[in-house]
Amino acid sequence: MTVESVPREVDFTRQVRVDRLSTLWKVTIAGAGLLIWLALIMSALQQSVVLDVLLPIGVVVIGCVATGMFLRRGRYETAVWAYAGSILLALVILMMPPATATSTVRRDLIPFILPILILLVGLLLPARATVIMLALSVAVVIFAPNIGRGVLVEPHQGFAILLCITAAGLAFQTSGEIFGIAEWALSSYNKERQIKEALFDTQEEVKRSYVRQKTLADQLKQVNTDLEAAKAAAIEAKNFRGQFLANMSHELRTPLNAIIGFSETMLNFPMMYNNQSLPDAYRADLNQIFTSGKHLLQLINDILDLSKVDAGRLDIEIEPIDLDTVLKGVLSTALGLVGDKRVQLRRDTPQQLPQVMGDPLRARQVILNLMSNAAKFTDEGEIVLGARDNGDGNVLLWIKDTGIGIAPQDLGKIWEEFRQGSAGRQKGRAGSGLGLAISRQLLNLMGGKIWVESELGKGSTFFFTLPIHQPEKVEAQQG
Ligand code: ADP
Repeated sequence: MTVESVPREVDFTRQVRVDRLSTLWKVTIAGAGLLIWLALIMSALQQSVVLDVLLPIGVVVIGCVATGMFLRRGRYETAVWAYAGSILLALVILMMPPATATSTVRRDLIPFILPILILLVGLLLPARATVIMLALSVAVVIFAPNIGRGVLVEPHQGFAILLCITAAGLAFQTSGEIFGIAEWALSSYNKERQIKEALFDTQEEVKRSYVRQKTLADQLKQVNTDLEAAKAAAIEAKNFRGQFLANMSHELRTPLNAIIGFSETMLNFPMMYNNQSLPDAYRADLNQIFTSGKHLLQLINDILDLSKVDAGRLDIEIEPIDLDTVLKGVLSTALGLVGDKRVQLRRDTPQQLPQVMGDPLRARQVILNLMSNAAKFTDEGEIVLGARDNGDGNVLLWIKDTGIGIAPQDLGKIWEEFRQGSAGRQKGRAGSGLGLAISRQLLNLMGGKIWVESELGKGSTFFFTLPIHQPEKVEAQQG
């Protein structure tokens, strides 16, 4: 059921009264019919009964028919007055002095019917009507029996008036209660209706959110499907790129090794050529061929490493590493990298460093990458290679330089493959843009992390961690 089908305002009191009145007039008419029938039977015995009774009953019948008519037209108040008025008139007729001396009606009893009528009106109409009815009844009790005789109030009339007043009081009291009950019923009904409306609104809201949620879920499903497709395409492209780079690097390395090998032999081993010494004019160019060849090989090795990482085929041998030995080796190599620049190389490590876990060759490769960057981007000042136990199960290593630094907007980019910072793109500092990308991947594989802090024009510090070797842990894992 929808709330709209519930009528907005319902007057319960009126509804109850209309029902009551429609029963009343029907019962009255039935009673009147019965009385007429009785009167007709009795009329066979006594003619005065017909005259005394038929007229008032006729009045009541007409009043009841009018009541029914007014009720059908929705004129409730007029209907009540038609009903009460007809009865009152009938009583007046009954109370009037008899036309014949043989009248059989006990006229002194009729006024005592009036309290019932007052009570009825009190129950059917608001208090104002009860007062009017009381006034009419009192007037009827006083005047009707005395028509043509002057006013004379007998004791039974006084008693009837007293009863009328009591009936009016009772009517006030009872209809007050009825009003109270009706009010209570109405307010309960209104409360229930509000709750129903609120529930209906909530239900509608729930329905709407369900539809919204369903649409969103459908969209999400579509996005997920698209994402899956895009991911599959990306993985395929990555694998293809990895495969291509691996093949190409391999193909390039073979001739390149020949170039490097022969140029080195020609430079350093004249005995291979019957001790014929190389003309000086050739030596410089051949040296250039040898250095460029090595540089190219390094580049190709880096590409190969990256492609292996991409394809998940880079083999890493994790074992305990003695950092002291590695750092010493790297520092002596770095001396050659700095060359004759006014840059001091310094080591900042404690006496004892714990062993770390990793691939010694790859760990060395990472430190050398960072050291060679520091050497490349620093023209004067110092380069510090530091390490300490970080107290969280890792050794923290850092390479700090006083070089050109990295612009804030480049700090995120430099980790991407083939990307270089804007400050470093100068002659003599050109690189492949692969060193940091590889270092990060290698550290990932060894369970470490890498990050940088840098200020343009002041220098950079690259930090990275390697997990400390914990023999108990390894044993526990093996056990
Ligand atoms: P490459 O050095 O071969 O260009 P990397 O991946 O090693 O490639 O470095 C990427 C970029 O990060 C460099 O081009 C440079 O702009 C910046 N960079 C790396 N190390 C330093 C450093 N120590 N000082 C200043 N810039 C650096």
